[in-house]
Amino acid sequence: MSPARPRPVLATVPLYAPDSSPVFLDLSDNVNLWGVPPAAARALGEPVRAQPSVYPRSNPAELRAALAGYAGVSAAQVVTGCGSDDVIDGALRAFASPGEKVAYSAPTFSMLVSFARVNGLEPAPVPFGQDGDIDPEALLAQRAAITYLCSPNNPTGTGISPEALERVVSRAEGLVLVDEAYGEFSGVTAVPLLPRAPHLLVTRTLSKAFGLAGLRVGYGLAAPEVVQVLEKVRGPYKVNVLGERAALAALDEDVPWVLQHVEAAVAIRERLRVGLEALDLRALPSSANFLCIPVPDSAALGRALLEEGIKVRVLRALPGIGDAIRVGVGPWEAMETLLSALREVRR
Ligand code: PMP
Repeated sequence: MSPARPRPVLATVPLYAPDSSPVFLDLSDNVNLWGVPPAAARALGEPVRAQPSVYPRSNPAELRAALAGYAGVSAAQVVTGCGSDDVIDGALRAFASPGEKVAYSAPTFSMLVSFARVNGLEPAPVPFGQDGDIDPEALLAQRAAITYLCSPNNPTGTGISPEALERVVSRAEGLVLVDEAYGEFSGVTAVPLLPRAPHLLVTRTLSKAFGLAGLRVGYGLAAPEVVQVLEKVRGPYKVNVLGERAALAALDEDVPWVLQHVEAAVAIRERLRVGLEALDLRALPSSANFLCIPVPDSAALGRALLEEGIKVRVLRALPGIGDAIRVGVGPWEAMETLLSALREVRR
């Protein structure tokens, strides 16, 4: 990279790469590339009233009520965590014993497999169906303690049909964990199934559409009995005082901002798809804020883009797909920067 390269490309793109890093556009984590919503930013900028010298509240009632209002459930159905990673990890520990299986359609969120392994569980991957949807029968045949469905799926971006979702939820023997980290972008949710499904856990996060990844606020929605078990395995203090304060402000005032940027991300995603096609790159269908693009050698392409200051997620040998890169969607200017870098490196 030449030392003259301007940085940042966009004032609004969060630059969490340190100054010494050559990365000036990070598209690797599917975060909100427009940044932090305004009320949350104001709350974080206020003088620190929250007294970091004391512990946060052990079971933040106000935050649970705000999340419940946003999700359309009761506060007793909400469990919070240090990111949804924390809720997923706790659920694996609480609802499966060492040696038992975690079934999922592969490829999926890589941390799921890692959490399964560190909790002594057996990852049980099954292929997606021919139509790109999950294969309910293959998942159910695993008779797993936990069946994990990622909706929309990371890293592919594909959604799950309501029929397939309903089939798994109604027939699975163990806990069904539906990961809706990107649910705002698809507009599809398993939450309406909760009243009929005592063994369903829906996990969500403020890290993606809500633009608060660095504050680590995630949550789960489930029957109160499931919530109580998750609270026990989680321990008392996972959401910190700043995270709680920003989350409350965002849920109170920033939802219109979030929805507006979700709409923009969805429109720009499809515009990016067209731009990629002009470069002979065919992204997979996506209902999230990212595109998964199969390429012959993702490591080489990832390195070449990094030379241009752009970080993408390099995915190797994905089952049924092969190598791919995954790029987060954000302001069109950022996508144009990506497209011209791709044009350059593939010349
Ligand atoms: N689920 C999926 C599918 C994700 O992609 C991620 C983050 N990359 C998470 C869960 C965890 O997000 P967080 O811990 O920030 O809530």
